[in-house]
Amino acid sequence: MSHWKGPPFDVMAPARCPDAIWLPGPGWKISGVLEATGVTLHSAEYDLDPDDKILFNALHSERKASWHFTITKDPFAFIFQHYEDVITWHCGPGNPYTIGIELEGVAPAIVEGPQYDLLVRLLKWIKEDRGWSRVWHRGRQTATAWMSSIYEHQDWMNTSCAVFSNNQIDPVKLIADLKEEDMAEIPTYEEHKKLERRVELLEEAARARAFHEKWLATMGTASESIRWEQYIDKVQAWRLKGNGWAPPA
Ligand SMILES: [Zn+2]
Repeated sequence: MSHWKGPPFDVMAPARCPDAIWLPGPGWKISGVLEATGVTLHSAEYDLDPDDKILFNALHSERKASWHFTITKDPFAFIFQHYEDVITWHCGPGNPYTIGIELEGVAPAIVEGPQYDLLVRLLKWIKEDRGWSRVWHRGRQTATAWMSSIYEHQDWMNTSCAVFSNNQIDPVKLIADLKEEDMAEIPTYEEHKKLERRVELLEEAARARAFHEKWLATMGTASESIRWEQYIDKVQAWRLKGNGWAPPA
C-alpha cells in the first residue's frame, strides 16, 4: 500500500509551511497584515482524543479566537496551518507582533516527543521564512520589536495559558535545540535498528492516515480531500526522510 505520489506537490504559497497540513480558518477572524517579530506559544487545553473534531470546531466556532498553527501530539503528531501572513486573535496586545502556535494538550502536560520535534521544526522554518537574523531568545512584552522572540501567552496578559511558567516547555532547552544544525540529518542507527524504525514509521503513517480519513469523513468536505491527501503524504514522506529513509515505494 503506497500513498506516495511522486515528487513534492508544488501547491504552497510562500508563507505556507511546507511541513504543515493546510486547514484554513474562517476568513472573518483576522485583522490585517501580520508583521511578525516573534511567536506566541499556547497550551490548547484540549486533547484530540476522544473528540476528533475538537480542533476544527474550536477554530470554526463563533468565539473570537484564531491562531496560525496547531501542533498535535503523538501518535497523530502533525503541524496544521490555518492562516498565512495575517493578524490572528490569540494573545491580545501581542497579536500584531506574533505568530500564534497552539499545542494540543492540557496543562501541566509536558510538550515532548514528536510534538516537541515538530515545534522545533516549525520554529526553524518560521525564522528562515521570515529572514529573522537574530538567534531565538525568550521574549518579553516590552521587546516587541526584537526579532526571533518566543513568548508564552501570559507574557501578554493575565491568563493561565503559560507553557514556560507551567513547566510544559523548558525555554532554555528549546532555544538550545533551535541552535542545533539541521535535525533531519540521518541518525547513525545500527542496521537492524534501522529496519525496526522503518517498520515503526510505516505503522505510524498508516495510523495517522486512518485518523485523517476518519476526520475528513466527519468534516464532510470531499472536495478538499484530495488536497488533504497530498499534504498528508508530503508530511509523511518528510517524516520518513527525516529519519534517514526514502519515501515508501
Ligand atoms: Zn493561550
